[in-house]
Amino acid sequence: MSDRVVVALDVGGTGMKCALVRSDGVVVRTERHPTDAARGPAAVVGTILEVAGGLADKARADGLTPIAVGIAVPGVVDEARGVAVWSANVGFRDLPLRELTVQRLGLPTALGHDVRAGGLAEARLGAGRGTGHVLFVAIGTGIAAAHVVDGTAVVGAHGAAGEIGHILVRPDGPRCGCGRPGCLEAIASAAAIGRRYAELVGESADVPVTAAEVAERAAAGEQLAGQVWQEAVEALADGLASGQALFDVATIVLGGGLAQAGDLLLTPLRAALHERMTFHREPHLVAAALGDEAGCLGAALLALDAMGVRDHQEKR
Ligand SMILES: [Zn+2]
Repeated sequence: MSDRVVVALDVGGTGMKCALVRSDGVVVRTERHPTDAARGPAAVVGTILEVAGGLADKARADGLTPIAVGIAVPGVVDEARGVAVWSANVGFRDLPLRELTVQRLGLPTALGHDVRAGGLAEARLGAGRGTGHVLFVAIGTGIAAAHVVDGTAVVGAHGAAGEIGHILVRPDGPRCGCGRPGCLEAIASAAAIGRRYAELVGESADVPVTAAEVAERAAAGEQLAGQVWQEAVEALADGLASGQALFDVATIVLGGGLAQAGDLLLTPLRAALHERMTFHREPHLVAAALGDEAGCLGAALLALDAMGVRDHQEKR
């Protein structure tokens, strides 16, 4: 058993999931801290550095050796330069977070994208374990994906690979947050499902109905809920079929809040995806296994990879 650990942080719009992870992939300590993004990006960076430094100190106090730091952040991330280029919900603009962390902690640091980090963890340690080609799709407020090939998440030329939420699925559909009408995310994200249902039943937008509630009402036989759920399932199947045409993966792992609907989502979605497969091989469609810890575990994997440590792979 190794005493080497990495400090891992997954920074989200509302909270940070943090951990010390041993080089064999075992988590030895977890912490959660509020992001409180309303304070502005400078204050958020201050908290990130403080929390990371605190975890490194706790590791040393427990007789462990922190060897590196991995940080996952949302938005557009230039992983090669270690820069958080842009983030809507945390407000980062061209922030050299890797360099700041190296200066403060004196440890090598890897910076990654939250969904790609989550996909990396699901592909290597979670629901996609044992398959070389995995598409991880996180469905929450928005929809984003990570294409993981042989344990490495594809970053793209500009740090923006995997924006499956902005595949056009309904040219006459509702306008997306990106400005274009008919994106997958505008129809099938958890936020879009709740919004569409409220619109149809004429409920006040002040009391939003969650996508989970729509799923339950659909399962209970409520007609409007069933209609909204089916529309979302069909749109998701269109998006995933495009993903499969492009990437030909063995496994599609569904994560994010909507995946917690379980078989209410997976069963109709498998059927809708099956209908869309012509000559393409149908991927296994499964729910994520690591829950909201995936991004943090992925950040740890990025740090271990940067150090050339792959002990956790030996346990396959
Ligand atoms: Zn869009």
